[in-house]
Amino acid sequence: MDNFIGNVAVRLHQLLVEPILVFSLRAKRLAMYGTDRIHIDELPIEWHRADDCRAPCPLHTDKVPKLLRRYARVGAKQSGLCLTPMLIRIPDLPAVTAFDAVLKQRSTRTLSKIRSAQRRGYSARQFMLPSHVADMHAIRTSMAFRAAGPVFDRWFLKPEHIAQPASEKLPVASPCCPMHWTIWWGLFAPEPGHHQNGVEVGERLVAYVKVMRIGDLVHYTEIMGHRDRLADGVMMLLHHEIMRWLIEAPEPAARDAKALLYGAAEHGGPGLLTWKKRAGFVPGRLRVASLLPL
Ligand SMILES: [Zn+2]
Repeated sequence: MDNFIGNVAVRLHQLLVEPILVFSLRAKRLAMYGTDRIHIDELPIEWHRADDCRAPCPLHTDKVPKLLRRYARVGAKQSGLCLTPMLIRIPDLPAVTAFDAVLKQRSTRTLSKIRSAQRRGYSARQFMLPSHVADMHAIRTSMAFRAAGPVFDRWFLKPEHIAQPASEKLPVASPCCPMHWTIWWGLFAPEPGHHQNGVEVGERLVAYVKVMRIGDLVHYTEIMGHRDRLADGVMMLLHHEIMRWLIEAPEPAARDAKALLYGAAEHGGPGLLTWKKRAGFVPGRLRVASLLPL
């Protein structure tokens, strides 16, 4: 889809449709968790983290990022129609075993599905978008409808809209600032001889998440898997490995995140909320802890 039309459509949806969704769905969706808005603790989040921020940083400090204005209380302003963020609080999980215990509590089948996907050879890692453009195009055009609604990419997306494909192997680059970044996480199936733009990569990208960080908050923006691989449990394995990274924090970009956010309780159909529940997310409330720019 043309980027401009796409952006306008998203903005209109956020301005006009989201408040209606919140008004009509929130109580019902929170009831799926046996809770209501009043009984959810508010989590303060710091989005600058000036002491940890490193130049060159992509963050604009002149106003609160749009994501936070949609999901968090900013100052004294309390909008009753603010989206209900679906969160996993990372500091509550001292080790991956603690996260596995949460998954097991939500569904007895999730861990065995994750292990089954691992046995099939799938593995998760960060990747450079230009190295896997054709595979990503195949993923994004593999379905006409997804849990979040119709997928216009199916008809309009061309590979060149995604990125300029790389013509050589690219090493995965760490973000410059560990507090403010975008990292692409992918799930790969081994496939000797597999090429992308003439470069032999030896593996096929079958699912991906565009993960972003704004200070204390890490969030999933795009999350998608190839239609033919969804039954293999690829999304849950990918999510599990991203959680492992955030819990074990082997590099600065993963350290000290307070929460992982994946959309709102009011987004998508009940099937999407069920997936989030099985993946360990709970409805939360966020408050922007500091309003002062650097
Ligand atoms: Zn920064």
